[in-house]
Amino acid sequence: VLDRPPSPEHKRGANSTRSPGNSFMSYRAVKGMNDILPDEVARWHALERAFRETAELHGYAEIRTPVVEGTELFVRSIGEATDVVEKEMYTFSRHSESLTLRPEGTAGAARAYVEHKTHAKEPVSRWYYLGPMFRAERPQRGRYRQFYQAGCEIFGDPGPACDAEMIDMLVGMFRRLGIPDVVASVGSIGGAATRERYRETLRAFLQPKAGELSEHARTRLEQNPLRILDSKDPKDQAACQGAPNILEVLDDADRAHWDALRAHLDALGTPYVVDPLLVRGLDYYTRTLFELKSSAGELGAQNTLCGGGRYDDMIRELGGPAVPAIGFAMGLERILLALGPMELPKRPPCSVAPLGARAVSKALELGRALRDAGVTADVDGRGNSLKSMLRRADGLGARYCIVIGDAELDRGVVQLKDLAGHSQEELPLGDVVARVAHSGGAA
Ligand code: AMP
Repeated sequence: VLDRPPSPEHKRGANSTRSPGNSFMSYRAVKGMNDILPDEVARWHALERAFRETAELHGYAEIRTPVVEGTELFVRSIGEATDVVEKEMYTFSRHSESLTLRPEGTAGAARAYVEHKTHAKEPVSRWYYLGPMFRAERPQRGRYRQFYQAGCEIFGDPGPACDAEMIDMLVGMFRRLGIPDVVASVGSIGGAATRERYRETLRAFLQPKAGELSEHARTRLEQNPLRILDSKDPKDQAACQGAPNILEVLDDADRAHWDALRAHLDALGTPYVVDPLLVRGLDYYTRTLFELKSSAGELGAQNTLCGGGRYDDMIRELGGPAVPAIGFAMGLERILLALGPMELPKRPPCSVAPLGARAVSKALELGRALRDAGVTADVDGRGNSLKSMLRRADGLGARYCIVIGDAELDRGVVQLKDLAGHSQEELPLGDVVARVAHSGGAA
């Protein structure tokens, strides 16, 4: 398998096993990173299509950024004292540069926004993205090391109207997808000044209980006490009972934004609950925060489908002008778990079964003509028996099988087998494409 012996740098990992003969016996995907096999992909396409359609109807255009960025971008934007930056990034160095596989999509989009001076070209930019993200988390159902996120960002609109529109878009999309129990939690974390004040208030509240906190939370107390509110540890959750509420310490401008956001949601009739202790895992948020959860399907404990919020300071912090921004990301694996099995339309393909060497060329030609007419066609050129070709056609779910033998070739005809109707008829070769296309074979 390897024509060179593996260098020490490429040493065998836990994802392969060696036979005693020293040749590789089997390879496995990296833990927490999954193959999506062809028979699962149709569900992915359906979800991705629904997301793209929704985003495009709302005026978002797709952006594609690299999967790798300079490490500093994530440290700066996500925040040093976050789980993602502290212990979940896949970081490596090449050409004396520290690089990281993107753990989320907002930092790259914001970097691109600044780099391409987008603010000078248009007052408001609406972007969406879709792709794999990487975090070295403990894998479990709904939590992977490579996972797919789809997300939207709005640059240049301070809200709160667009905040409400974004939340309403998500609630509507999840309902249309068939996740009826989705609940949107909404909160506000204020601007930088409010947050600094709240950090002090929270630290003062938690300091006397430091002894009751988990070890990890104790290390967070100084640098990032807000994170403790987000802890899953029952000790931390108990210590946070009765913690001061950030919504009570919002300054006037933050409060006006928060009140207007709720008024817009109320006017739209968008269902939501206020969660004053909502703290999201990334540090860049300002003012509006939201999460959408569901307990549908096979979700289990990882039931947050989507999270987002405003990040009004990030563009400036990345070297751009003061441009406000808001965005969200949703986890596609989790949404698929919530959705369970989906009814997917399957195009009935047509199979072409040549019998004899001369018929194979004609079958290839017929395959091309069928596809040109929009019919999904499979040409079985293995040279097998009719029985085995019919079995393959059946396995593909084909409605029709077109049989061409050398004798048919000489007479310019084919045998058209209707596998659903269990009937067969002889047709002129020149008529069969139109016949199949018109009886529902075409897309
Ligand atoms: P975040 O970027 O952490 O705000 O996460 C946004 C959404 O991405 C979450 O609500 C999940 O649906 C999804 N997500 C985050 N981390 C993972 C992961 N490790 N595995 C699968 N989905 C994830």
